[in-house]
Order: sequence, then structure tokens, then C-alpha cells
Amino acid sequence: MTVSGWKTSKNGQIRESQLGDAQDREAQDRNGVVSYRLSRQQTLKALEQGRKLSSEVCDAQAELRRVAHHHGVAIEEDCPVCEGEDLVQVTFAFGAGLPRGGRCVSDSAQLEGLRSRGRATTCYRVEVCRHCWWNHLQESFILRSLDSADQPR
Ligand SMILES: [Zn+2]
Repeated sequence: MTVSGWKTSKNGQIRESQLGDAQDREAQDRNGVVSYRLSRQQTLKALEQGRKLSSEVCDAQAELRRVAHHHGVAIEEDCPVCEGEDLVQVTFAFGAGLPRGGRCVSDSAQLEGLRSRGRATTCYRVEVCRHCWWNHLQESFILRSLDSADQPR
């Protein structure tokens, strides 16, 4: 269990190698979606029991804050830490041909655009509170071309 799965390096770049920590990998379904729900619950429990400080879990890095401000998609859920209503979701895509720091994906059209590249792309979805800066990985998934997969909708 770790919350350090989502960190930026010293130069402010988000690095894929620092995401999706092996310890965080839980249920991976057939579509390659890895959920970090359990790890999130454990983190929140640790916070509740005083084994973690809010400063340890509300530590969104500058780049993540910037992206959350400009590209965050509101989640209909209150922040689990401050109970505020400014919880958003951000998605980053990593893969060949994409920036090393990942590309921020702000809507499904962009996601489909990445899928149609026909190159393996891994996406990481993170929830971020724009009030207290709580942040945690929600899930990661691999984008594949739709040739053999189901069509969307
Ligand atoms: Zn919050």
C-alpha cells in the first residue's frame, strides 16, 4: 500500500515508472483495467487511524495541481479527506510517441484519438481534490485499437 505511486520527479515531470507501483496492483480485469480502490481505502483508513498525516496524502505535486485546475473532470463524490466538493479526475496517457511526462487526456474524444493511433498506450486515472490536494490513483488501463475489441457503446 502506498500513496507514493503518484509523484513527480524533481524537474516537475510526471514519470510513468513512478506510477502504478507493483504493490498497488490489485484486480486486473480482462480489459487490462487495474483498480486501486483497495489501496485507496487502506490509505483513508490509515489516515483515520492516525497512521498517516493529511499532509502525507494531500500532497498533489505542482504539475498535478496545474492539470487538475485546467483539465480536471468533476466527480460526483465529496473529497474523502476534507469532504469538499472540488474532487476532480485527471487522466494521463503514456506510450510510444507521447511526451515522457505523459499526455493529459481531458475527454473521451481524445481518448479515442489515442486509441486509434494503433500503438500501445497506458492511461492512469487519478482523483485530485482541488481544495486540500488529496490525490490517489483510481485505475490504470491499456488502450488498444478496436479491431478485435468491442465497439464503444
Ligand atoms: Zn479535499
